[in-house]
Amino acid sequence: MLTLAAIGCRRAAPKDDTRAAREKMVDAIAARWPIQPRVLRALREVPRHRFVPDLPLADAYADKPLPIGEGQVTSQPSMIAIMTDALELTGKERVLEIGTGSGYQTAILAKLSREVFTVEILRSLSDAARARLDALGVRNVRFRVGDGFKGDPEHAPFDRVLVTAAPRDVPPPLIDQLADGGVLVAPIGDPKPHPPQRLVRIRKNGGTIAEETLGPVHFTPLLPVE
Ligand code: SAH
Repeated sequence: MLTLAAIGCRRAAPKDDTRAAREKMVDAIAARWPIQPRVLRALREVPRHRFVPDLPLADAYADKPLPIGEGQVTSQPSMIAIMTDALELTGKERVLEIGTGSGYQTAILAKLSREVFTVEILRSLSDAARARLDALGVRNVRFRVGDGFKGDPEHAPFDRVLVTAAPRDVPPPLIDQLADGGVLVAPIGDPKPHPPQRLVRIRKNGGTIAEETLGPVHFTPLLPVE
């Protein structure tokens, strides 16, 4: 059954309330983490509540992961800020995102880069994310339903790659599809606490691959495809 909330008819929160909630969320992130001003600006602009329409406003802007349907979650906003910051976007890049989910992270990337190619394994999530970004007037995103382990070879190479669910190791096709001078950010490792997952950043320069660990993280797994 289609609920009113599911078709976007839930009583809308007044605009000022959503702005105030967003400002508070971003101020709290900025107080804790050294995030670039450009990234903070994008976080202030993207209406997170539109990506989790069934939740009360206070939850939508809490710094916690939230359910987005199909048993999946959108990462907590501070983690999205940290990962986006780690990509060092300047506005000129072609970006590959693995795990479209709600499309919230996609919308942030779209504000900070030239073009985003986003891959999601679950069609229902991809379609819902596309509808949300269309409604927000975001035009520089291409959606693909498919296996993120394979990337998006048709549109490679990419200046940046962001993985938003954790594979055990960085899938080799994603490194292959990274342009020279490019940066890839991904959580890797098993979801069990021991050993913990790590957020890694990989730089490709003149054929050399350099990997650094940015910190311990906790992500849902990138689902294997049969
Ligand atoms: N960035 C998203 C968070 C997504 S959670 C947001 O802001 O909402 C991770 C997403 O990766 C989920 O939507 C999940 O369905 C998707 N996913 C899991 N395994 C995948 C795979 N093998 N290929 C592509 N997407 C995958």
